[in-house]
Amino acid sequence: MIEHDVLIIGGGLAGMSTALHARQAGADVAMMSKVHPTRSHSAAAQGGINAALGIGDSWEVHAYETVKGSDYLGDQDAIEILCREGIQDIFNLEHWGVIFDRDEEGRIHMRGFGGTDKSRTCHVGDMTGQTILHVMYEQLLKINAKSYDEWFVTTLLMEDGACCGAVAMELTSGKMEIFRAKSIIICTGGCGRVYEPSTNGLIVTGDGLSLAYRVGALIMDMEMVQYHPTTLPANGFLITEGARGEGAYLLNSEGDRFMQEERYGATTLVEKASRDVVSRAETIEIREGRGVDGCVLLDCRHIKDRILEAFHQIYELAQDYAGVDIAQEPLPIRPGMHYIMGGIKTDVDGRCYRHNGNGMEPLPGLYAAGECACASAHGANRLGGNSLLDCVTFGRRAGVHAAQYAKSIKAANVSEQVMQQEEQKITDIFARSTDQRAAALRLEMGNIMHEFTGVFRDETGLLEAQRQIHAVRERYPNVSVDDKGRVFNTDLVSVLELDYMLDCAEIIIASALARKESRGAHTRTDYPERDDENWLKHVVVYQTPEGPAIDYLPVTITKWKPEVRKY
Ligand SMILES: Cc1cc2nc3c(=O)[nH]c(=O)nc-3n(C[C@H](O)[C@H](O)[C@H](O)COP(=O)(O)OP(=O)(O)OC[C@H]3O[C@@H](n4cnc5c(N)ncnc54)[C@H](O)[C@@H]3O)c2cc1C
Repeated sequence: MIEHDVLIIGGGLAGMSTALHARQAGADVAMMSKVHPTRSHSAAAQGGINAALGIGDSWEVHAYETVKGSDYLGDQDAIEILCREGIQDIFNLEHWGVIFDRDEEGRIHMRGFGGTDKSRTCHVGDMTGQTILHVMYEQLLKINAKSYDEWFVTTLLMEDGACCGAVAMELTSGKMEIFRAKSIIICTGGCGRVYEPSTNGLIVTGDGLSLAYRVGALIMDMEMVQYHPTTLPANGFLITEGARGEGAYLLNSEGDRFMQEERYGATTLVEKASRDVVSRAETIEIREGRGVDGCVLLDCRHIKDRILEAFHQIYELAQDYAGVDIAQEPLPIRPGMHYIMGGIKTDVDGRCYRHNGNGMEPLPGLYAAGECACASAHGANRLGGNSLLDCVTFGRRAGVHAAQYAKSIKAANVSEQVMQQEEQKITDIFARSTDQRAAALRLEMGNIMHEFTGVFRDETGLLEAQRQIHAVRERYPNVSVDDKGRVFNTDLVSVLELDYMLDCAEIIIASALARKESRGAHTRTDYPERDDENWLKHVVVYQTPEGPAIDYLPVTITKWKPEVRKY
């Protein structure tokens, strides 16, 4: 058995932020990741990280726009913390060595993003996530933080109602180990690949969401799935919102800038309206026959100098994967699954909660941060650039709190029996010999989720999704692998991941069925209006033997009352 004060599952931006701050707070910390930490999906973040540093901007304006972007579902205490404390977090990143791009006067250059007319997104070209990840990793090396690279967590451990560790498999050998810890912080990222296609990498499979759900944690607002307006049709690759932030247009097949139309509610910000608004408008244009081969067009020709100067990555992506030179011709794009606003319900210090029959109570020892968590800073729709900030700021807070909590308790006695159960799970998978493969079921699940739980939903489609996902779940126990070895068995890992993803799919559908209104990214054609009277509340899901159970929590409102949302 391996022991640490604080075990962090996940080595992306959230995991690294929690690890650095828990270590600074004096805890013996270990970070674990199923891939090398610098290959975590945070590396894909192109556009940047928000902070109200500009002249004429303030954390209050940033907070108001985040609340409005969230369609008033975000908890305003969390949003205030994100926007106020995030400013110092950006300076801290810079002091660690993140070389943000500069303006002509030498200040941090900020680009425009959606949901605001301010320029507030700090960036390093269009490789912001990768740069921050590498700088944080250097800091972790500097303080000799322990990192278990290429270890895959298969279950969390509970003793006397508290979370006290995890079982993980070392991928390079197949060896299983028990990790005992006083606090466990889940930072495993989102669950993008529950959908096909998605802007997310193949490793983004919702593992931590499912692990937490299985030990009783509340999962909140999972119906809020963000479709990003500009993704490539061939493979779902993202074209950063920074392009529209710099002034790129969206055109339909008739050459019209359709976002200017009154009916889309964005006559002021036009293409820079928030993502839910633009994705809905694009989908309507395509459905009403003004699309181009199932897409609309992103026109960057009039800003080609800026594209060539600051957006090398998207310039190359468009050329390599769509065969389009965006300096010369418009690029076909369409909305694609991108981000999950919901996640493991936490408070502003990263602590997780469970249901006790009457309401919620803390789940001792368990914390979460990053995309897998839901401190509720994004509500029903996240603003671009706020996710990296969420990882850094709420990661810091979770790390500090978890370190302090670890100092205040004794380590639990952990039974070693759980190892046999986990080993048995793998032995059972190896023993099967069918022609059912994880990849086929995964694709089927992704297509179901995209078809019925995408930009537009209704009850008939959601019930159909529930039925079809249930059918996939029934076939899951027959999945077998070709590779029966223990060394770097990615075949085996994909079977374990599929189990986690099916949990996420079931939770998303249950939550979407529960919310009978349209708000932010959740557009129900059978309930087309926002209904503050009945639905200004969070949907929470928890596991029961009968399947996902639903409850509701109030939204925290500090100073911004719900208003009609126009851009
Ligand atoms: C293409 C793209 C571009 C984006 N651009 C931006 C942007 O410009 N600005 C912005 O704010 N946001 C952006 N986002 C969103 C943002 O990048 C993510 O929300 C954020 O990086 C998530 O960070 P994370 O630390 O929570 O998770 P991740 O970076 O995904 O890290 C998850 C970690 O968990 C580990 N892990 C997972 N499961 C297990 C397991 N079972 N056992 C052990 N380890 C496990 C992984 O190995 C990994 O280390 C973008 C997203 C995408 C997909």
